[in-house]
Amino acid sequence: MTTIPSATEIVTIPCLKDNYAFALHLRETGRTLIVDVPEAAPILAECARRGWGITDVLLTHHHWDHVDGLPDLRAAVDGPVRVWGAAADAHRLPALDHALSEGDVIEIGALRGAVYDVSGHTLGHIAVHFPQAGVVFTADSLMALGCGRLFEGTPAQMWESLSKLAALPRDTLVCSGHEYTQSNARFALTVDPENSALRARAARIEDARAKGMPTVPSSLGVELDTNPFLRAKDPKIKAHLGMTGASDAECFAEIRQRKNNF
Ligand code: ZN
Ligand code: FE
Repeated sequence: MTTIPSATEIVTIPCLKDNYAFALHLRETGRTLIVDVPEAAPILAECARRGWGITDVLLTHHHWDHVDGLPDLRAAVDGPVRVWGAAADAHRLPALDHALSEGDVIEIGALRGAVYDVSGHTLGHIAVHFPQAGVVFTADSLMALGCGRLFEGTPAQMWESLSKLAALPRDTLVCSGHEYTQSNARFALTVDPENSALRARAARIEDARAKGMPTVPSSLGVELDTNPFLRAKDPKIKAHLGMTGASDAECFAEIRQRKNNF
């Protein structure tokens, strides 16, 4: 199935104040996967405009701003909608048709997605990587120039989660859950001020936001080069934080703490 990349389309759908949902459409089978449902109306409108029938929903984690639109979405869609989400979160997610754990594979027609446990923001948060489409859905784990706040997990857990995502191919499209990039960029510059790739990206972000343009999705390669939460192992960052000799996870924890106070 080498034709898969050209046979899929991905659309970013702004929802609520600063959330993003995504639609992944497979032309061959006509199936459309929605990733997170902050609210139904913008998702229904975008899919109707494109003539896409919604067949599947992936819920990344239990927070209300990622799931609350599901009942309205279901009510508006003709036909069954299969709901995929974490087995570990089944007790606090809407009813799941497919309960997922790390290592499971989602199959949507010919498209396969690998499930990763990316706990940290919440316990049970999942990310799904579709290698054929070159995309990973990360929601509030890895974000554009940032990572989710640690509501439930430990810094060490989030560092492990981010390290799994960091190992994916550099050209992977990172579809994350919020438009937080501008404030993330201003923070990142305080941690990694000498990074010329970061400075150039921060300038592009200021420009894009001034024009009201989205900064999500991004590419994993760009995140690896500029996102301080992925770069906690960088000797220059450790030195800048006065943490030479500290472990990568300790350095990550310090960066996350500084962001909380930023
Ligand atoms: Zn969240
Ligand atoms: Fe969120």
